[in-house]
Amino acid sequence: MSEVRPHKTMSKATRYVNIVAVAVPFIGVLTAIAMLWNSAVTWFDIAMLVGMYLISAFGVTVGYHRMLTHGAVQAPKWVRYAFVVAGSTAVEGPALIWAADHRKHHAHTDQEGDPHSPHIGGGEGLRGLWHAHVGWLWSTEIERGWPRKHTPDLLRDKGLVRISKWFPWIALVGLIIPFLAGWAFYGTVAGGLQTFVWAGLVRIFFIHHVTWSVNSICHFSGYRRFDVDDHSRNNPFLAVLTLGESWHHNHHAFPRSASHGMRWYEVDLSALLIKGFVKLGLMSKPVYISREQQAKKLPGAVPATAPQGAPLSDAA
Ligand SMILES: [Zn+2]
Ligand SMILES: [Zn+2]
Repeated sequence: MSEVRPHKTMSKATRYVNIVAVAVPFIGVLTAIAMLWNSAVTWFDIAMLVGMYLISAFGVTVGYHRMLTHGAVQAPKWVRYAFVVAGSTAVEGPALIWAADHRKHHAHTDQEGDPHSPHIGGGEGLRGLWHAHVGWLWSTEIERGWPRKHTPDLLRDKGLVRISKWFPWIALVGLIIPFLAGWAFYGTVAGGLQTFVWAGLVRIFFIHHVTWSVNSICHFSGYRRFDVDDHSRNNPFLAVLTLGESWHHNHHAFPRSASHGMRWYEVDLSALLIKGFVKLGLMSKPVYISREQQAKKLPGAVPATAPQGAPLSDAA
């Protein structure tokens, strides 16, 4: 197995500091909720926050990521577009740009050209983790011909191109909805603003950090299973919040798999949602990786002649 270790300069203490730095704001928000209970937050706000979080997050994990970027499952255009619109409310950029960045990440994982690796392009230790988490978003290096080079198949879908162009407006609607819902529920503009803060701003704060944690923490902390030449990790602690995306090492081993969880204990809510949609006839042809196919990528296995779960174009 080509054992890949975390960066040599990363001490254990630094790793824990990093994890704490990401965890504390979450605990802070939970504390704020407890302190503000019934004065500036109620069950209604939390229900709106959770409901809208699930819509935005599944839009990213199932729509942006598994369906568009990797072709892990097929769907009629209206279902595909609905997921992309939902994903746009996560305010992580237009679908086409997101997919291009992510395919680039798979094409150059933890090597030169990876837009967000904690091991390259952002310095060492904490600086590398910061770069992978959020710093890369304001990096000034832009590749020529991007995203055309990485998403030629998606650019042929005119509806998708249109939804990508509408991204700022869709994101805005995602912020107006909680305001209107709060206004209707409490009957006051102040009530509308309160729900806007929780189900709009706090929701986006959560989803941003959860997604970014897949880029940073899941290339850094967790366990490995397959013989893949990168630093990707399966992180159990982030599994529920990331809706299954933190089984990120499995995902790098088999990018087209509709399920990132590959054992019974690797809970993957996005895979469950895909299964449900397939049962309802709203999605089809999910790609699953059999135990035999998986075994070919285990350490010490004889290299497979035709890798299973091979990506579309350069999506691996
Ligand atoms: Zn990755
Ligand atoms: Zn991916």
